[in-house]
Amino acid sequence: MDEGYAQSEDPALYSLPLSLPLSQDSFKELWESHFLDQTLPEGLQEPFGLPPEVPPEASVTPPAPTVPTTTDYAGEYDFRIRFQKSGTAKSVTSTYSQQLNKLYCQLARTCPVEVLVTKDPPQGAVLRATAVYKKTEHVADVVRRCPHHQNEDSVEHRSHLIRVEGSQLAQYVEDQHTKRQSVIVPYEPPQLGSECTTVLLSYMCNSSCMGGMNRRPILTILTLETPEGQVLGRRCFEVRVCACPGRDRKTEEANADKTQNETKSTKKRKSHPSPDSTGVKKAKAVSSAEEDDREVFTLQIRGRERYEMLKKINDGLEMLEKDKDNKKKVKQEVPVPSSGKRLLQRGERSDSD
Ligand SMILES: [Zn+2]
Repeated sequence: MDEGYAQSEDPALYSLPLSLPLSQDSFKELWESHFLDQTLPEGLQEPFGLPPEVPPEASVTPPAPTVPTTTDYAGEYDFRIRFQKSGTAKSVTSTYSQQLNKLYCQLARTCPVEVLVTKDPPQGAVLRATAVYKKTEHVADVVRRCPHHQNEDSVEHRSHLIRVEGSQLAQYVEDQHTKRQSVIVPYEPPQLGSECTTVLLSYMCNSSCMGGMNRRPILTILTLETPEGQVLGRRCFEVRVCACPGRDRKTEEANADKTQNETKSTKKRKSHPSPDSTGVKKAKAVSSAEEDDREVFTLQIRGRERYEMLKKINDGLEMLEKDKDNKKKVKQEVPVPSSGKRLLQRGERSDSD
């Protein structure tokens, strides 16, 4: 629970771990915009040791953001991405979970990502892939390959986690201020008869690599940009690089389902602390069960009298439900219901009482 300043309620304090002084320029800006006009406790001003004078440094290109944005943005070109359906078979080398917006892939295997736009982006537009740590406590760290995998490799861009395959035009860049790495390829319009362009990404470390990702989850940010670096669209997805993508996807999807159901039933259980509200909550549970496609919930009730009372309410609701269903059935099966059918329906109902 207690994670230090990240948990602080003060928004200014909350932004601290996100905006570490990676360059003095951006830090000075941050300091001026966030802190100078706010009264901070004495102790908090000291640790940063901001120099009294930071010489203004003229930069030609606008500096990259210290923390890359990870919100999806379709933009005016309606930029979207799509993954091929690969299922969760044991042999699969890369598979995408729609449910978790997460790509599972093996080390250095090709992951095709389909890119879609609704109109042609400007001439010279590029696609950029950047990796960033998902969790707030890691987001200030730059994602790089682990020392082991870097040493094994001899290419110039050996420290880059994400590679684009099948293109001689891929450019590996590192922002001079933030040191974040990304790979850029020219955007190619879809070939004749196709609605999308495919980019081949590969990830050159396992998520578990010591000294690299070190089990910290990452996101891939895919942006469509003008040649000048202006973002036209952005899509993000989580990535896990592992030995068994199919198995891990299956496990994590099942866990997510379980957690969701547990949260649901915990809410239900917590919803009857005061006896007065019980009846209402129970009725609510039943009507929401209707929405949840007849999911059955269990409610623990203290005391027989109360139980009997709530059971009556529930039975009544069940009966109404049945009645509705029967009417529906009769309508569907016999367009003009005969009186015999009706009698049968009534008989059934009195039996269940
Ligand atoms: Zn590695």
